[in-house]
Amino acid sequence: MKIDKLRLVGFKSFVEPTDFEIRPGLTGIVGPNGCGKSNLLESLRWVMGATSAKALRSSGMEDMIFSGTSQRPARQWAEVTMTVQNDRKDLPVEFNDLDLLEISRRIVKKEEGSQSIYKVNGKEARARDIQLLFADASTGANSPALVRQGQISELINAKPANRRKLLEEAAGITGLYTRRHEAELR
Ligand code: ATP
Ligand code: MG
Repeated sequence: MKIDKLRLVGFKSFVEPTDFEIRPGLTGIVGPNGCGKSNLLESLRWVMGATSAKALRSSGMEDMIFSGTSQRPARQWAEVTMTVQNDRKDLPVEFNDLDLLEISRRIVKKEEGSQSIYKVNGKEARARDIQLLFADASTGANSPALVRQGQISELINAKPANRRKLLEEAAGITGLYTRRHEAELR
């Protein structure tokens, strides 16, 4: 698969709708401290089904929503939409007929705790479906292709079992484990 576009609305510091086109040859994003480079990477993880708030430098998922500044009020929801091309036709069977997938995740602030709604081309999907979609493509929220600041030292200091998990992600077999686990539960 190939990521074409990313659209952020109310996500962390990206309060106004912001579109990113990801063109071949993109090698880096530069900008001053605090301009949102890490937030952008976190939006990628988030839309691919990240469940760990810690990996998104947050205490809870509501922290994904723009929290306001002295000039602007906080927002009540956040949404990230990722457009991907199914150029290799290697997606899970339920998605593989689609040439272009628009995957979105939206979170709305609620008193009883906020929940995410995922959609693929406008149709609601389970978090699991989205996670497996990317797990099979050897990418996803925990992909070793996305390296957080400070993650290298975490890797060096990791216990062997955790290090193995990262190697399994890199090998692209995490989706298989998840499916086996689901099958065993049935
Ligand atoms: P550095 O070069 O230091 O790594 P960066 O470009 O990676 O910087 P980010 O960490 O992406 O910067 O952006 C940090 C900014 O995002 C901070 O100003 C922080 O206040 C803001 N921010 C994070 N979460 C939210 C939120 N929920 N609402 C509003 N602003 C937020
Ligand atoms: Mg950063």
